[in-house]
Amino acid sequence: MATKALKKKVCERIDQRRDEMIRVAQRMLKQPELGYREVKTAALVKEELQKLNLPIREGLALTGVEGTLSGKEAGPTVVVMGEMDSVMEKKSPLADPVTGAAHLCGHHIQVASMLGAAMGLVGTGAAPHLSGRVKFLGCPAEEYLEIEYRLGLMAEGKISFLGGKQELINLGYFDDVDAAMMVHSFADTPEPAFLMNAAGNGFLAKFIRYEGKPSHAGAAPHRGINALNAACIGIMAVHAQRETFQDDDAIRVHPIITKGGDVVNVVPSDVRLETYVRGKSLDAILDASAKVDRAFKAGGDAVGAATKITNIAGYLPIFQDRNLTEIASRNGRALLGDRGALEAGFMGGSFDVGDLSHLIPVIHPFVTGTEGHLHTAEFHVTDYEAAVVLPAKLMALCVIDLLADGGGEARRVKKEFQPRLTKAQYLELMQRLAQ
Ligand SMILES: [Zn+2]
Ligand SMILES: [Zn+2]
Repeated sequence: MATKALKKKVCERIDQRRDEMIRVAQRMLKQPELGYREVKTAALVKEELQKLNLPIREGLALTGVEGTLSGKEAGPTVVVMGEMDSVMEKKSPLADPVTGAAHLCGHHIQVASMLGAAMGLVGTGAAPHLSGRVKFLGCPAEEYLEIEYRLGLMAEGKISFLGGKQELINLGYFDDVDAAMMVHSFADTPEPAFLMNAAGNGFLAKFIRYEGKPSHAGAAPHRGINALNAACIGIMAVHAQRETFQDDDAIRVHPIITKGGDVVNVVPSDVRLETYVRGKSLDAILDASAKVDRAFKAGGDAVGAATKITNIAGYLPIFQDRNLTEIASRNGRALLGDRGALEAGFMGGSFDVGDLSHLIPVIHPFVTGTEGHLHTAEFHVTDYEAAVVLPAKLMALCVIDLLADGGGEARRVKKEFQPRLTKAQYLELMQRLAQ
C-alpha cells in the first residue's frame, strides 16, 4: 500500500472511532486528577491501549503508562504523548468536589488524541509499512502544582523531579527516542486549526525566607530585626532590576508574600516569599535570576536579617523542531488547508516538554475547539472534532511520514537535530539550578 493510501485509510479509521475517542476525553474530564496522582486516568489509558492489543508498560515515573506498536523491522522510535494530569480550580463546574482538580488545560483532549492516533494506526495494516516503533505514552505531572506534596515524594525517594517529563528524562525513558510529539489546547479558539511553532518561556521557582529577630513591636522595636521590612526592600529592589531586562527575553518576575509575620504586636521575624523567574532563554533566566537573588539579599542586608534563597528548577523554554514542524505543517494543511499550519507565536506559558526539546526533536502544536482561557473556570471544549479527532489524525499522519519507507524521515530528523544539551548536561544544569 502506498503511503498516500495508508494515510487515507488511517484517517477513515479515526473517523470510524470518533465516538470512542470523544468518550475517553469525556471520561477523563469527569475524573480529573492532579500530577503524580493520576491513578484512574492511567487505568483508563491502559484499558484503551490493551483494547488495541499493544504491549503495556506502566508505573513510569509513578503513574505513566505506555503501549508500543512495533513496525515490520527495527528502526527509529517515535513517542506520541498525552499528559494525564489536571490543574486545580474549585470554582470550575468541571472541578472534582473534593480535590478541586479540573481539566482546564485541556489535557483530556491530549490523551484522547494520543489514543486516537493509536486507534488509527493499529488494525489498519499500518505496522507492516512502518520501520521502528511508536510508543503511545500517558505522561504524568506536567502542571507545576502541589509543590510540597511533590517535595514529599522526592524526600521519600519516589521521584527526583517535580515535572513528569523531567522525571522520565532522568529515568532514561527518552534515551533511545528519536522524536516525540504531542498536541496542546489553545485558548478561546472554537474554529478548527493547528497552530505551529509556538515559543514559550522557561522558569525557575524561588523560595525566599527572611529571618529577623522578634521583639515587642510597641515597647522595643529597636531590639528587633524586621523581616517584613527586609521583604519590602527586597521586592522594591527586584523592581529596580526591571529596566535591565531585555524586552525580547520576556522576563517575568512575580513574587508573592506567603508569610508576612505572626502577630501584629511582635516585630515580624519569619517572612517568606515565592516567585518565579520566567524568560525565553536559559541565559536570560539565569541572568535575571542572579539579579533577583542580589535584590532579595539586599533587602536582608539593609535591615540585618538573614536571607535564605532556595531555587527549584522549573521548566526550560520550548523549542519546536524545525523538521518536525515542516512535516506537521504539511499534514496540517492536508487536513485543514491554510488553517492547518497557522503560526502560534510567543506563548507566555511554560511546559515541561520544553526540557525534552533541549534533548531530542519535539513538536508541540496547539489545537483548537475550545472557549475560555487556559487554567480558568471558563475553559471548556466546544468542538471535539477540532480538539480530538483532527489532532489524532495529525499525529498519526506524522508518524507515518516519519516511519514509512524504512524510517528515513525519522532518521533525518534525528540526524539534523542539534541538541541544546546532552542528558548529562541537562541533569547537571538541573542540579545547578536547584541551589
Ligand atoms: Zn497548564
Ligand atoms: Zn497544559
